[in-house]
Amino acid sequence: MRKNQTHTRLKLSAIAAMIMCAVALLGESSLNIASAQRMRGRRMPVQEASVDRGTIARAESYTGDRFNYFMETPRGARVAAVNRPRTEALRAIDAGLAELFDVARRNNYRARLNYSDYVVFIARADRTRDSAGAYSPDMSFGAGSYAGTVYDRGGQIFAAGMVSSYSPAALVVAEHERDWQRMANVVRYEGEHLVLYHNDRRRFQETADHVRGGAHPILR
Ligand SMILES: [Zn+2]
Repeated sequence: MRKNQTHTRLKLSAIAAMIMCAVALLGESSLNIASAQRMRGRRMPVQEASVDRGTIARAESYTGDRFNYFMETPRGARVAAVNRPRTEALRAIDAGLAELFDVARRNNYRARLNYSDYVVFIARADRTRDSAGAYSPDMSFGAGSYAGTVYDRGGQIFAAGMVSSYSPAALVVAEHERDWQRMANVVRYEGEHLVLYHNDRRRFQETADHVRGGAHPILR
């Protein structure tokens, strides 16, 4: 039985709007701050201290997963994962962010270009192959506002990654077991939305919703 039959993901149109890193939800950052303030002063397990509870809770509500493993990549990006990540996965995250920061600098962007600015959630994959049979670990969501578009696959849409929070900058990538270059690409591509959000709000708005056309890479 497929995982997404036994473990139903939350299916709200608001969530579908976040898929493919769609629109920025207004009020999101203030919610984050409020929940971060509530947590302040409380003792937290050492492992979780580096990622605030609100950011974890949001990623968990989007994915239906529990993130139990917390660590940093060799270059200092924060990672929360459903299973203990392989070394290759941590290196893939660094490689994707390195490429993102390079291309961002070429576009004269300066904000949020540190590894420690990013939180990467590694979520369960609901499928490991695409409709053509190629290795493609992806998460499934209800089609919601993507219903009837090219992304719609019989009421479900599949995404390799999504942005789960803009401040702090956080993205979700499906767990990979190989094809680390693909995983690096997903991190780089979702990260493009985060870099644009913090450096070029007009271009961010223009490219946030892939339903209206456009794909990755956005930055060259
Ligand atoms: Zn995107």
